[in-house]
Amino acid sequence: MKLRIVVDPDLCIGAASCVTIAPDTFVMNTENKAEVLDHGVADVPTYERIVEATEDEMQNIILGAQSCPTLAITIYDESGKQLYPEV
Ligand code: SF4
Repeated sequence: MKLRIVVDPDLCIGAASCVTIAPDTFVMNTENKAEVLDHGVADVPTYERIVEATEDEMQNIILGAQSCPTLAITIYDESGKQLYPEV
């Protein structure tokens, strides 16, 4: 499945728990904000990215988002439905 993962840099406080839980998906940038990777591939991280994820990877990414103390990470499925935070 495809997921759209968005980090709001204005909300991110650099707690890095998302990176600890899902290091293939989240990485800290030089401003101590989380950005989104594509399975840890050595490309340019960005605050928003569409990634192809297995069911297990999706669960890991959602766990990472749930660990964020400021709800800075939003995850959508390919139809645009918001998966996290639940609405
Ligand atoms: S857990 Fe939230 S606040 Fe911490 S680095 Fe990740 S997005 Fe930022």
